Amino acid sequence: MLEVIPMILGPVETNAYLVADTQSGEAVVIDPAWDGQDIAAEARRRLWRITGIWLTHAHFDHIAGAAGISRNVQPPPPVALHPADLPLWEAQGGAPLFGMRIDPGPPPSISLAQGQVLQVGSYTFEVRHAPGHTPGHVVFYCAAERLVFCGDVIFMSSIGRTDLPGGSYKTLLHSIRTQILTLPDTTRLLSGHGPESSVGQERQENPFLS
Ligand SMILES: [Zn+2]
Ligand SMILES: [Zn+2]
Repeated sequence: MLEVIPMILGPVETNAYLVADTQSGEAVVIDPAWDGQDIAAEARRRLWRITGIWLTHAHFDHIAGAAGISRNVQPPPPVALHPADLPLWEAQGGAPLFGMRIDPGPPPSISLAQGQVLQVGSYTFEVRHAPGHTPGHVVFYCAAERLVFCGDVIFMSSIGRTDLPGGSYKTLLHSIRTQILTLPDTTRLLSGHGPESSVGQERQENPFLS
């Protein structure tokens, strides 16, 4: 089965997700928010092998654990990012704007694109480009399991902020309509912050989408 372990980490309570095919023991980390050594230890405890780090976007609170994972996992898993967020990644994910410094870890070696297909063991994820919160924001959609890791695009009853560099409210709403609301209502939304929701729930109750 596909098992998802959420871990709330870092100074702004970001959801990092350890996602594994329990059959093969292969796992990826979606948004290694902070404390990478703890994420690596959790995988080790479950006898899972981390084979990839997937970034929904390059904000510091979603990437700061990548360095700790790469130090504690052999071989260090490749990092996947959409190229439009590379400048943000190179700027420490904007951490200096918040008076912080982070080590973003090893440079991304997998360049994500709309429609690209990624694997965790036998599970397939579709990359959907959803800019607006950041230019290179993507979501990872697993149709078979009816779930989408949506980062800071949409939250329970809220949407991502668009006041940071590269943000656009109009673009974000367009992304939500074309990349999220086109998914089946029963699709679970696993966001970068806060509790889980679903496409149907946000379609009905999200005040930004009415
Ligand atoms: Zn963000
Ligand atoms: Zn965030």
